[in-house]
Amino acid sequence: MAATGLELAERTLHLADGSTVPYDGLILATGVRPRRLPGEGAHVLRTLEDALTLRERLTPGRRLVVVGAGFLGAEAAAVAWRLGARVTLLEPASVPLAHAVGAEVGQVLAQAHVDRGVDLRCGVTVTEVTEDGVRLADGEVIDADEVLVAIGSLPNTEWLEGSGLPVGDGVVCDEYCEAARNVYAAGDVARWYNPLFGTSMRIEHRTNAAEQGMAAARNLLHPEARKPFAPVPYFWSDQYDMKVQAYGFLRGHDEVAVVAGDLAERRFVAVYRTGDRVSGALAVGMPPKAIRQWRQAIASGAAWHEAVRSEVSATEA
Ligand SMILES: Cc1cc2nc3c(=O)[nH]c(=O)nc-3n(C[C@H](O)[C@H](O)[C@H](O)COP(=O)(O)OP(=O)(O)OC[C@H]3O[C@@H](n4cnc5c(N)ncnc54)[C@H](O)[C@@H]3O)c2cc1C
Repeated sequence: MAATGLELAERTLHLADGSTVPYDGLILATGVRPRRLPGEGAHVLRTLEDALTLRERLTPGRRLVVVGAGFLGAEAAAVAWRLGARVTLLEPASVPLAHAVGAEVGQVLAQAHVDRGVDLRCGVTVTEVTEDGVRLADGEVIDADEVLVAIGSLPNTEWLEGSGLPVGDGVVCDEYCEAARNVYAAGDVARWYNPLFGTSMRIEHRTNAAEQGMAAARNLLHPEARKPFAPVPYFWSDQYDMKVQAYGFLRGHDEVAVVAGDLAERRFVAVYRTGDRVSGALAVGMPPKAIRQWRQAIASGAAWHEAVRSEVSATEA
């Protein structure tokens, strides 16, 4: 049953069938939904059913256009390629994922698609889905049998309009995941202040959703022992034979340094600096322990110059 409205003062939820539910405490975990493009007939990926429907259509030789070369689009492209589909991957940025992982690392990840014959086209904007495929901003139509739109997501917060709850790209919470008295949020829909990084963030990863759900519940039920939710975010991504793992908050970083392995071989650990601190680490094709030590550096707010210098001298020794 969908919740359709919230009255903070009355501590009451309104439901789609017209009924109401009173509460003493509330945790909002309504997640996100895929962003779409104008036009009919494109796939999106959010549910198991979405994935099964798309997989059924991807018989060998079928032409798939994937709009958006973020992690979702890139993983879908890799699976479709394995199924024998002819894949075109379209991305408006000049380097896929550059905003998230930096241009150098983004380029390395992109090359894995190009090497396999995926037609990766960067710097192109798709304006609509048509009967024949997709139309680009310059009017060109790219033909496709199937189109997957993977251009990000929108937090499910519309139903909170008028409630007085702070909403802005997610439910805005403090460091305890509290948005209003006894109202907490968790998971993809929560934008909370993470004191470890000194910034607000909204994380769309499973481990975060699980950990934040537990943290929000603990803080709601034991207000006398509330703790700030200050995790080191973690995600992974499997593409072809590449396993990508990352810790920290990489967005908005100032510098990237490769501290182990080699970018060209797609086996490396890259660490990220924000200000004078180690803010993130990303590994490709490395054992988990190669990156785990960096999780500790991020969690302890390690100074960049000390952490990276000692790692480089240890590698050289
Ligand atoms: C294709 C895909 C692949 C992914 N792969 C990975 C991965 O490899 N690793 C990783 O870490 N993460 C991955 N994720 C992200 C991960 O799935 C999410 O971070 C996680 O599901 C978030 O959990 P959540 O509980 O916040 O939201 P959700 O799982 O989206 O749950 C929200 C629920 O709220 C319901 N809801 C929405 N509005 C209302 C309303 N008004 N009233 C009542 N209920 C409502 C929704 O129907 C839904 O059931 C992937 C996501 C997608 C889509």
